[in-house]
Amino acid sequence: MPLESPLAESLYQGVNTLENFDIGIIGGGPAGYTAAFSAAKQGKKVVLFEKDFLGGVCLNRGCIPTKTILHSSELYRQSLKSADFGVNIENVSIDYNKVIERKNVVIERLRKGLELAFKNLKIQVVNSEAKILSKNEIEANGEIYNCGQIICAVGSSPRVVKGLEFDHEFLLSSDDVLELKKLPKGILIIGSGAIGIEWARIFNNFGVDTTVVELASNLLPLADIDVSKRVERIFKTEGIKFYTASTVDKIEDKKIFLSNGDVVEPEIVLVAVGRKPNETEKIEGVKYIGDAAGEIQLAHYAIKQAYEEIEKIPFRKDLTPSVVYGSPEIAWVGKREQDLAPEEYKKSSVLVSSLGKAQCDGETEGFIKLLVQKDKIVGAHIVSSEASALLEQILIAMQFGISAESLKEVCFPHPTYSEGIFESLFRMK
Ligand SMILES: Cc1cc2nc3c(=O)[nH]c(=O)nc-3n(C[C@H](O)[C@H](O)[C@H](O)COP(=O)(O)OP(=O)(O)OC[C@H]3O[C@@H](n4cnc5c(N)ncnc54)[C@H](O)[C@@H]3O)c2cc1C
Repeated sequence: MPLESPLAESLYQGVNTLENFDIGIIGGGPAGYTAAFSAAKQGKKVVLFEKDFLGGVCLNRGCIPTKTILHSSELYRQSLKSADFGVNIENVSIDYNKVIERKNVVIERLRKGLELAFKNLKIQVVNSEAKILSKNEIEANGEIYNCGQIICAVGSSPRVVKGLEFDHEFLLSSDDVLELKKLPKGILIIGSGAIGIEWARIFNNFGVDTTVVELASNLLPLADIDVSKRVERIFKTEGIKFYTASTVDKIEDKKIFLSNGDVVEPEIVLVAVGRKPNETEKIEGVKYIGDAAGEIQLAHYAIKQAYEEIEKIPFRKDLTPSVVYGSPEIAWVGKREQDLAPEEYKKSSVLVSSLGKAQCDGETEGFIKLLVQKDKIVGAHIVSSEASALLEQILIAMQFGISAESLKEVCFPHPTYSEGIFESLFRMK
């Protein structure tokens, strides 16, 4: 048996060496389980190590729990407005325990599906923390696993900022906020990326006094400037307070002193200022994918990286879509208007309020904006109900170089939000 490193040599004392595997994967999040499923379907012998729950952050503390709670919050909000639609509902109230219970049921159901897939594909799952010893050896539970290839998909954790270290009671991370037993009276959210914006919408929907503070000069700073401005307008209309170009100077007795001189006194603070890849030694020959790779920290990016690695299906990283959930959805891909010189592009923008379907649904907030260079769509920025689904249609055109002109030949159904895409093709200037 080859000893690949001094560390491996020292760890061999008192450990058993197990059978050989084609692939060893550390981390059972979207990156890890996608890689495991793909490899197993190719007939490879796979072992996957997960120290916590299968599904990773995405299923247990990220995408799925937040969107489940968000849905409850939206249902509550819509119920309050239902009389406008001729539906009278009396005594609408929130049972937050039930909201959380349902969130747990959803996670459990999806996790069971994952577990079944692992079983059916005969993938060995080791429920333990694992350590990479060399490019072919993983140690877990005092055993060494020899693997032809190792994929490290250990994910990321909430970023800790000096002065805003989580105490898990007042200063919360995105993990802590899922553990709340009841809704607070007021919350301050630091950071207005996707996580900050989504939680602001959730708390505000539930009637919590919500304030967001953002260091950049606009909310959602990674978005196209028109999207950021529209989010700010929506926040104003919805009563979500926010401060831009501001930061936290100090915290005293649960009072938050902001750099602009204002003082906020929330019941709790959510610090949502990004995530950092989980610490792991970089070992040559090991493939790092998903959040652990420190590139784009999104579940679909993690999944595509896994397919690229195992199935050798390439993907356009510059066409990775971003979605912020809530009402209306926010979705974008490609170039932003603020990054282009005026003579470089044409653009069109259609207001969602001009669409029949939007009027039917009472979901009239937002726009569909396309940026075009040499008749090819290079950027799409959407604030609209169903924005994520709309964006996917444009993404296919962008990926395969379908020109804006030839998209005009496509028949879009009526009444839909997607008619806004069709309309925008005729308004390019
Ligand atoms: C609040 C929130 C909302 C989000 N919403 C979205 C969204 O709507 N859409 C989207 O695309 N993305 C979203 N994300 C991001 C998404 O969750 C991540 O991009 C995705 O989970 C990354 O997948 P991954 O497989 O790389 O890592 P992870 O999902 O983090 O999985 C890594 C796994 O590795 C395990 N692990 C770590 N170290 C070891 C070890 N040494 N041994 C064994 N196991 C180990 C961990 O326990 C974990 O289960 C959200 C994130 C958060 C926090």
